[in-house]
Amino acid sequence: MTTIKNNLCQIKQQINDYCQQSSHNNNVTLLAVSKTKPIQAIEQAYQAGQKAFGENYVQESVEKIAQLSHLSDISWHFIGPIQSNKTKLIAQNFSWVHSVDREKVATRLNEHRSGQDTPLNVCLQVNISEESTKSGIDKNAINDLADFVNSCEHLTLRGIMAIPEKNAPLSTYHTMHELFLSLKAKYSCVDTLSMGMSGDMQNAILSGSTMVRVGSAIFGARN
Ligand SMILES: *Cc1c(COP(=O)(O)O)cnc(C)c1O
Repeated sequence: MTTIKNNLCQIKQQINDYCQQSSHNNNVTLLAVSKTKPIQAIEQAYQAGQKAFGENYVQESVEKIAQLSHLSDISWHFIGPIQSNKTKLIAQNFSWVHSVDREKVATRLNEHRSGQDTPLNVCLQVNISEESTKSGIDKNAINDLADFVNSCEHLTLRGIMAIPEKNAPLSTYHTMHELFLSLKAKYSCVDTLSMGMSGDMQNAILSGSTMVRVGSAIFGARN
């Protein structure tokens, strides 16, 4: 077995174990984060059955997506910070965006998505640990931005995303889950809590995450 296939197998087993232990009855989707990794690595993961991939850098990802266009059942998720001059490429190449953090970006994604058959799936990024170095909205701003995204014809509001700070307390994860539940109660299209990475998958899943974004544990450390 290749290392990537082997790693994927182990991660899926861990996800299953944590889901069993979780009291939230959550189903968890694995997003393989392939930023900085070559297309050969993505192909290996794909051959091992992985279909959802996350990327952070627009230029890099657009090239990789074009080279892999024959793998037409891959779903590409944009998870990095968004510059508004990159919204066109994002809207045209991805089916999900996890990092929407302002109306201007939502407006532009909506405009550029109009030529596509399906709406763009959107999660709002929440700066849950209130770190000045991280993007994302304050948790008190979720409702306004959610209303706005929900009013955009070519966007579908799917949920919220966070990158808790290193060694964040469990309460941070619980807060995200509560915010997710109140959003879900308001919008029937909301079904996604995007939370958990290689280092904090367990806390995230036990707290009700529905999508984990795992990079280094699948593809190895990045340079
Ligand atoms: C890089 C990245 C990940 C994956 O991180 P790992 O620690 O390698 O699993 C997940 N989410 C976001 C937003 C990232 O930028």
